Amino acid sequence: MFQINDNYQKLPGSYLFSTIAKKVAAFTAANPDKTIIRLGIGDVTQPLAPAILAAMHKAVDEMGCAETFHGYAPDLGYDFLRRAIAENDYRARGCDIEEDEIFVSDGAKSDSANIQEIFAAESRIAVCDPVYPVYVDSNAMAGRTGTYDKETERWSNVIYMPCTAENGFVPEFPEETPDLIYLCLPNNPTGTTFTKSKLQEWVDYANRVGAVILYDGAYEAYISEPDVAHSIYECSGAKTCAIELKSFSKNAGFTGVRLGYAVVPKELKCGDVSLRNMWARRHGTKFNGAPYIVQRAGEAVYSREGKAQLKEQVAYYMKNAAAIKEGLKKSGYTVFGGVNAPYIWLKTPSGTTSWEFFDRLLENANVVGTPGAGFGPSGEGYFRLTAFGSYENTLAALERIQKM
Ligand SMILES: *Cc1c(COP(=O)(O)O)cnc(C)c1O
Repeated sequence: MFQINDNYQKLPGSYLFSTIAKKVAAFTAANPDKTIIRLGIGDVTQPLAPAILAAMHKAVDEMGCAETFHGYAPDLGYDFLRRAIAENDYRARGCDIEEDEIFVSDGAKSDSANIQEIFAAESRIAVCDPVYPVYVDSNAMAGRTGTYDKETERWSNVIYMPCTAENGFVPEFPEETPDLIYLCLPNNPTGTTFTKSKLQEWVDYANRVGAVILYDGAYEAYISEPDVAHSIYECSGAKTCAIELKSFSKNAGFTGVRLGYAVVPKELKCGDVSLRNMWARRHGTKFNGAPYIVQRAGEAVYSREGKAQLKEQVAYYMKNAAAIKEGLKKSGYTVFGGVNAPYIWLKTPSGTTSWEFFDRLLENANVVGTPGAGFGPSGEGYFRLTAFGSYENTLAALERIQKM
């Protein structure tokens, strides 16, 4: 009789977005005359930029012609894309990353879930709390997280690093020494980030204790402050301790197109074993490449027109973020984020849990957001609003919240 991977049975249900959907559906059924504004979405809404569309159309035509048809992509990704990434995302920022340290993928969700495979089953992981749930869940599936306690909402074998207003959303070095440290900067859901000098301290710490930092830079394009690093490799020593994961989803609207990449530097070694070579082996064995059409679209992200158009797209969302932040402040809320990320993290009024605030916002303002508790125990008492809606809807939502 076959046996299943029992680790899946230990996972708590993922109630967050299904509970939200149920609550919204119930409210809509009871109040058919009310229009709901959704500021809970973690997905982009602006259409693909013209430069990207043009590159995709051209690549589609190439696929229809025997002379220019493309089958399987090279294991690491096409040279034209890896060259554009190395040049624009690294060398232009003074980071010495080579093309053969870049692995093109179908997105940062899969990379951030898969990267744990090349580490020992006994590895201790440390995560910021609250955070993107993929890091913990993928390790739980691999049997690395111990048992889940419903009361505390914590796994017995995960090191949680609370990030709250009290510590400025910057975690302290944990008491127990981790092997793998997940950092998502700028962070989803808090919208906050660290300064480059703070990140340097983490790089130094990882090198000192022999840990690897798994650095998720999905929101890098939203960074507006000058003292924030755009890549962890801006910190000295990062090449011996960090893997960087990037996505085209939030900077270029590729959530439905699918493209990302991982950087695994050659200097990153365990004894004399190169993690870069391990990831190359894993990638070549389990992944058959992002589509040619999509990689051409990714190349267009780095073209002159592409860059200009995407800068506007990011600015559109960040105008929403600024409006939400200012509007909420005027209404007396304590708000964080929204400066280097498209997320606003507000403190719920005292004595109100994040789910109570969700209900209050839905009933009184007909606005949907995301309760902070859904992203980890330290998210309790906070609430996430996103800047991914339209400007008109964002302003309308704020007006309603102000009247609440
Ligand atoms: C949206 C997001 C990603 C992007 O994932 P893709 O698979 O590239 O779409 C990665 N990490 C975080 C924290 C995100 O919020």
